[in-house]
Amino acid sequence: MNIRWRYFIPESSANGPGKRCVIWFQGCSIGCEGCCNPDLQDPKGGRSDPVETVFEKIRLVAKNVDGITISGGEPFQQPEALCELVRKIKAETTLSVFVFSGYQKEKILSDPKRNRCLPWIDAILYGPYIHSNPPALERFCASGNQGLWLLSDRFQAEDFSDLPVLEFLIGEKGELIQSGLYGINFIEK
Ligand code: SF4
Repeated sequence: MNIRWRYFIPESSANGPGKRCVIWFQGCSIGCEGCCNPDLQDPKGGRSDPVETVFEKIRLVAKNVDGITISGGEPFQQPEALCELVRKIKAETTLSVFVFSGYQKEKILSDPKRNRCLPWIDAILYGPYIHSNPPALERFCASGNQGLWLLSDRFQAEDFSDLPVLEFLIGEKGELIQSGLYGINFIEK
């Protein structure tokens, strides 16, 4: 089983509560107007690696962070790979798992391949990005229609209050990266 993904950062403070590693899945057909990561929509973009290979990247940094954020792209458009990855993370690390999804709750719950992932996910920020809908940054939502779905007792709603939404990082090759609630951008490569 492979995951199609594009970016991984080992440590972030603007992609959910606490310190988190972050992976951006590649591929999304939801088509939100004003999507902040259009380069992540192409289902053939990015790279494809076995779940085991991706998990190994996460395992190597797990001791430095509180959790993992899985962003995209749309993670639930690769439900089998997502399921295998989050199951492995929960079996072999103590990381919390937070997922961004452009789907509404019902679209996740009504699809057996998608809802099979839920036992290994602690929280989902769900709903499409709607450009005309003002952000609700105080509850970590890029557009106010989005909602937080808590699936375990690992997080409380307050954990998502007033979080940093933007950060600048230096990548492995010295590149300047902008990361956070509005996706990931390489400012200087
Ligand atoms: S769900 Fe996310 S990646 Fe997909 S189009 Fe909407 S904003 Fe872009």
